[in-house]
Amino acid sequence: MIAEVIVDVAAYPIDRPFDYAVPAEWESVMEPGLRVKVPFGPRKVVGYVTAIKMHSELDSGKIKPVLEIIDLEPVLSTELLALSKWMAAETIAYEIDALQVMLPAAMRAKYEKIMRVVKPELLDDSFREFLGNREQVSLKALQDAHLLNEVKKYSEQGIVQIDTAIQQKTKMKKVRMIHIPDTAHLESALEETHSNAKKQVELLQWLLLHPSKSMEASEIMNKSGVKANVLKALLDKQVIEQSQVEVYRELDAPKMRDSGKPEQLTDEQQSALSAIEQASDKKKQETFLLHGITGSGKTEVYLQAIDHVLKKGKEAIVLVPEISLTPQMTARFKGRFGELVAVLHSGLSSGEKYDEWRRIHRGEVKVAIGARSAVFAPFTNLGLLILDEEHESTYKQEESPRYHARDVAIWRADYHRCPVILGSATPSLESYARATKDVYTLLTLTKRAKQQALPEVQVVDMREELKTGNRSMFSVALADGIRQRLERKEQIVLLLNKRGFSSFVLCRDCGTVVECPNCDISLTYHRSSESLKCHYCGHEQPVPIECPECASEHIRFFGTGTQKAQEELYKLVPEARVIRMDVDTTSTKGAHERLLHDFGEGKADILLGTQMIAKGLDFPRITLVGVLAADTSLHLADFRAAEKTFQLLTQVSGRAGRDQLPGEVVIQTYDPEHYAIELSKTQEYVPFYELEMDRRRQLGYPPYYFVTVVQFSHEDVLKAADYAHKGTSFLMEQLSSESVIIGPTAAAISRLNNRYRYQCLVKYKQEPALVPVLQKLLKHYKTSWAKDGLVMSINREPTAIF
Ligand code: ADP
Ligand code: ZN
Ligand code: ZN
Repeated sequence: MIAEVIVDVAAYPIDRPFDYAVPAEWESVMEPGLRVKVPFGPRKVVGYVTAIKMHSELDSGKIKPVLEIIDLEPVLSTELLALSKWMAAETIAYEIDALQVMLPAAMRAKYEKIMRVVKPELLDDSFREFLGNREQVSLKALQDAHLLNEVKKYSEQGIVQIDTAIQQKTKMKKVRMIHIPDTAHLESALEETHSNAKKQVELLQWLLLHPSKSMEASEIMNKSGVKANVLKALLDKQVIEQSQVEVYRELDAPKMRDSGKPEQLTDEQQSALSAIEQASDKKKQETFLLHGITGSGKTEVYLQAIDHVLKKGKEAIVLVPEISLTPQMTARFKGRFGELVAVLHSGLSSGEKYDEWRRIHRGEVKVAIGARSAVFAPFTNLGLLILDEEHESTYKQEESPRYHARDVAIWRADYHRCPVILGSATPSLESYARATKDVYTLLTLTKRAKQQALPEVQVVDMREELKTGNRSMFSVALADGIRQRLERKEQIVLLLNKRGFSSFVLCRDCGTVVECPNCDISLTYHRSSESLKCHYCGHEQPVPIECPECASEHIRFFGTGTQKAQEELYKLVPEARVIRMDVDTTSTKGAHERLLHDFGEGKADILLGTQMIAKGLDFPRITLVGVLAADTSLHLADFRAAEKTFQLLTQVSGRAGRDQLPGEVVIQTYDPEHYAIELSKTQEYVPFYELEMDRRRQLGYPPYYFVTVVQFSHEDVLKAADYAHKGTSFLMEQLSSESVIIGPTAAAISRLNNRYRYQCLVKYKQEPALVPVLQKLLKHYKTSWAKDGLVMSINREPTAIF
């Protein structure tokens, strides 16, 4: 027997499996998806078995044996192995990267595997003899004793359990469980207890009122109010029993909880749900774009669609852009599905993450919620995959393998023949375009679920404010609005849009932003050379001293920080209690949840923050949302700038007036006529979509074209440029004339960590040669250019092009 193994050797230039011989005694244990140790040159390395075969093309004398088996149960299913192959090809990555991205970090590390005995009475004698007094033994020791076949059998029967050693050390937590007899026994115990033993009587009565087979000791004490000595008295009398039970780590679940009851759906929600259920019942892969305004009840549709597939014994994956930013959302899922939910939280330690992964792998949970990588949750009977806020750029991984979670979700749905829901108030142009072409099925929610009106949106022209002598960050309208809310004891959200911070040059008098003469994109300020550059065509010019439009001297790079905003806010309303939320205040574990929780509890009047506050907040007392500078993201040197601005403004506006109190939004800008800002007044997506699509068509940008960026970096500026030229020429020679190749040009950050960066852009509608040509380029780079210190990356459909 031969195992094909992908070895884990960083930077090894060859991307293919190697053949290894499987020792005869392991033939019944060996299967695809296991990790093994194999000899590789002089070393012993970890590898993944991707296939089993009976013959090798190689000389049998050249084939080395597998040295050790790390797992007994595959860590990667047949499905995930196939997915990794597809993903590697699709993203031009190496298969080892694609395999590893699917596993929790703890699995990737080289921890020892341990076998623990669960039901010793079912072991046969010789095995028990080998174990002696030991309850656990390393898998390696069992292998050396030629017992792997037996262990595998026992593990399948649940007689033993295989874990990693780390999990033994850091992860298992034990609690004291109290086992409670049935009502009849409790009642007779009550009769037998002397009424002087007041506390014991009290506890017995409490237990009668809270029927349960078992409960944690701490829970009983907390809820019933009795102390440990009372429990002990009943234990001594053997009315109740106790045992130590291992539990999975309790996650820092936020305290806000859903009532757990499904809502009565609105007509729109109901027809969306029916369409999804139908696809599910027909076992049909269908991708739904659920386009619903903020507060229209998309989440409720997700919840009920999941409920539908759970009832059929299937599983669901829910992806959110950043799990730590959505504590309210995860709380709703936990409230609805309780213990069936695993939250793959970025704040978890690697042991905790491994725990959650294992709970999924064993089928103990049915719903996994997490950010991008949760799309690889090791379910085997998937019934539904959901991407909430599908337009968010965090769904694209920006390091190898550069996959998009949406593509992976659709691939898995295809494998399991089940639906995918992409949900958003402001879908990506790509997705909406696909929906209009019936590639995706469009489902629309046009009304807010609780019938609240969308907030009133006012756009304030900051140029006018400047003219009337107001030099503060707050317009008169916003300042008045803030004071009014403080008086009424309502809450305020202030967004400081920090995307594109300081990167463009703006005239404070007329609002002109300096743009490239050849492209429809603002120039980027480069401090090192005091110049403005276009990252599309390479145009470069000095920073102007006066505005090219109005000759004003008030022209400078734009940007302010949250800290400065907080200081100004203090001058404006010293009495206000402000929570500031930005990278500085949320860097510690759980800080984000805590700040949001405090705000939800009414411990502050104003929540001031960067885009991280735009998502998912559902607090009834927020009645005013202010956007301090809507422009900043508008002038990013990125063709998606308008789209991202519109999305952000719509999302943050949606935080206001979600409950009984009506909401109001004040958007401050230097560019009130811009269509992305103009249209955010009504928060109507379709008119924006149409205008933006027109612009994209005229300029030849996605979704009319696909885009791939190849980036080259080197410590030596000449070498960086030279390889960029070589790479670009190679693409020009090899790709068809249908493809447009732009570059090489300097990258947005032209020097990073002392490496000079260049890039080349490929635009195409159809290019069948693309994947093989890029693979050839990658291979050439790995086997030759990399040795000269070049770092090259290939990024298909990047989320931003600078
Ligand atoms: P979205 O995800 O589209 O922003 P949510 O699902 O969070 O919207 O719903 C917004 C609010 O409306 C939530 O407080 C939710 O509990 C409530 N809600 C959703 N659907 C209904 C319904 N059918 N009836 C009453 N309230 C609903
Ligand atoms: Zn000007
Ligand atoms: Zn240009």
